[in-house]
Amino acid sequence: MPALPPVTLFGPDFPFAYDDWLRHPAGLGQIPARQHGQRVAIIGAGIAGLVCGFELMKLGLQPVFYESGQLGGRLRSQVFEGTEDVVAELGGMRFPESSRAFYHYADLLGARSRPFPNPLTQAAGSTVIDLEGETFYAETLQDLPPIFREVAGAYQDALEEGAGFSALKQAIRQRDRDTLKALWNPLVRDWDEGTFYDFITSSRAFKRLSFRHREIFGQVGFGTGGWDSDFPSSMLEILRVNVTECDDNQRFFVGGVEQIPRRLWRHAPGRLVHWPQGTHLAGLNQGAPRPGASAIFRDPQGQLNVTDQWGRTDRFAAVIATCQSWLLSTAIQTQESLFSQKLWMALDRTRYMQSSKTFVMVDRPFWKDKHPQTGHDLMSMTLTDRLTRGTYLFDNGPDRPSVMCLTYSWMSDALKMLPLPLNQRVRLALDALKKIYPDVDIASHIIGDPITVSWESDPNFLGAFKGALPGHYRYNHRMYGHFMQEALPAQERGIFLAGDDISWTPAWVEGAVQTGLNAVWGVMHHLGGHCHADNPGPGDEYPRYGPVALGD
Ligand SMILES: Cc1cc2nc3c(=O)[nH]c(=O)nc-3n(C[C@H](O)[C@H](O)[C@H](O)COP(=O)(O)OP(=O)(O)OC[C@H]3O[C@@H](n4cnc5c(N)ncnc54)[C@H](O)[C@@H]3O)c2cc1C
Repeated sequence: MPALPPVTLFGPDFPFAYDDWLRHPAGLGQIPARQHGQRVAIIGAGIAGLVCGFELMKLGLQPVFYESGQLGGRLRSQVFEGTEDVVAELGGMRFPESSRAFYHYADLLGARSRPFPNPLTQAAGSTVIDLEGETFYAETLQDLPPIFREVAGAYQDALEEGAGFSALKQAIRQRDRDTLKALWNPLVRDWDEGTFYDFITSSRAFKRLSFRHREIFGQVGFGTGGWDSDFPSSMLEILRVNVTECDDNQRFFVGGVEQIPRRLWRHAPGRLVHWPQGTHLAGLNQGAPRPGASAIFRDPQGQLNVTDQWGRTDRFAAVIATCQSWLLSTAIQTQESLFSQKLWMALDRTRYMQSSKTFVMVDRPFWKDKHPQTGHDLMSMTLTDRLTRGTYLFDNGPDRPSVMCLTYSWMSDALKMLPLPLNQRVRLALDALKKIYPDVDIASHIIGDPITVSWESDPNFLGAFKGALPGHYRYNHRMYGHFMQEALPAQERGIFLAGDDISWTPAWVEGAVQTGLNAVWGVMHHLGGHCHADNPGPGDEYPRYGPVALGD
């Protein structure tokens, strides 16, 4: 039997094959020669901004970067003191194989990846689930008591019953756009205003089971771990994750994912117009991004301007803003007339998820030692209702320093950590893990300084990532579709949005990359360019396959 085509992040709202667009020999398109060398301001040197800059440079434009924090943004791999390649992944850390546009760049830049040690995967080896003081050790789902399989099965049944899951996935695999739209658009109408929790509790599959089953689902979930932090989110957000397999077949990058944005910054593309061979983004930006942007406005001549935090103002042919959308009204004086009031409503209503992680480096992957009585691994990837929630173990090879993400949590669990200093976070996590592993002395293995992050306390972010609430579909649609500017009044044209915040799949890097590519198409059009007839871009396909419009 021929192998089934893989599930990729193809839609479902806008099923456009970004991966095919990227690898087509005709390239993404062209811009009239008279526009070559024009400057485009890019606010934020995260992956969305870098993808925009890289592709616009290839088309002959001059991307000028502004960055108020660190290059790489939320792809941040902090190296443990004294080492060169032992890292804590503070932002994105597990990258589903379905993220095809993202892997296009990872492969181009030669980044090496390995399967991520998620619960109940071969890469984790073993998993411990600790709920209400009871601890279970497992290598596969089959090793757990029947109630866990009932919960996993109930979620599969609920997806089938409530969302026609297999048919949706099949349409994604086949890249059958018409069928996909026919199946997805009614779900948008049905579920925009329902939460994930509503979906679970109203399903026949869970109704016939106990509250305990729903509780276990919330604590442990299936795939990447607990799901209860997402219970208040719009069900559409969760369905997108499930149906595009964002929660499956994930990989991590050896040496840290931050190397991808850093390499993109210095990568000289093989093919580019206008610029000499060997040109890269770093070179076009005198080696470093400009400071953070503090104002974006249109001058009396109608030109877009950006002012940096030290007061330097420059004019640009176009501007792409990739920073989190709240920052457009809290950190940057963005002239109000650049966006419609409807778009401002959407930008300001964005809801962020909080997230906290705390890591320690240890002398070696001691957790693989066997327990003298049980013969089990001394410690395992651990999911628990205690405050650590998820503990992930990164084995860098025998007798090499390895990394423990002691705790990775979201929402209220992350807020418990927010005011606490680093050492107290580590202490609390060690105390919680001691209750699960009374015989293991984790502290005796710690070397170097621990590392922690709370994205919501960083003024360059204000939160980890968007998590749309019920009723947010229309807002998402306005932000995502803003790159289609032909119908906009002149005063609103030429400024584009990109990045995680305007994506349909926030918290997944693929959405940041895909929205970056939409902005590339938007800028190309704005400057009189177009795609090759054999390789239409997202804006060419948008009128036919764009997201369904729900009336106001
Ligand atoms: C905790 C966490 C876990 C995640 N896990 C995963 C995962 O497992 N898998 C996955 O695929 N994705 C994951 N993600 C999502 C992924 O990291 C993001 O989708 C992606 O990195 C976002 O890229 P971006 O370019 O849109 O935004 P960012 O990376 O946020 O880039 C925007 C940039 O704008 C800068 N900026 C802010 N204000 C200004 C200003 N005034 N002037 C100039 N610059 C400014 C910021 O400093 C930042 O560098 C995770 C994210 C977080 C936070």
